[in-house]
Amino acid sequence: MRRKIKRDAVKRKRKERRNHMKNALRQFESTPTSCSLCSENFTVADKSNLDTWKIISSPAGVLMCCPACQERHRAHLEQVS
Ligand SMILES: [Zn+2]
Repeated sequence: MRRKIKRDAVKRKRKERRNHMKNALRQFESTPTSCSLCSENFTVADKSNLDTWKIISSPAGVLMCCPACQERHRAHLEQVS
């Protein structure tokens, strides 16, 4: 019983994240269709992309960040600190 509740919470969280991603995509009409850093293609139809890609809104516009670049960025941050 408890375990089921926990699993449902995880599922719900993932769903919320996807909805957030979809809303963000809808919000910005000119959302890039590729990674802003390495030009990797972003496919909205691929649902796993909604979980792994990151949308960053900056004054310069909307940036897309692929999982590989997020990883690289994290490694870079660890290096400088
Ligand atoms: Zn990238």
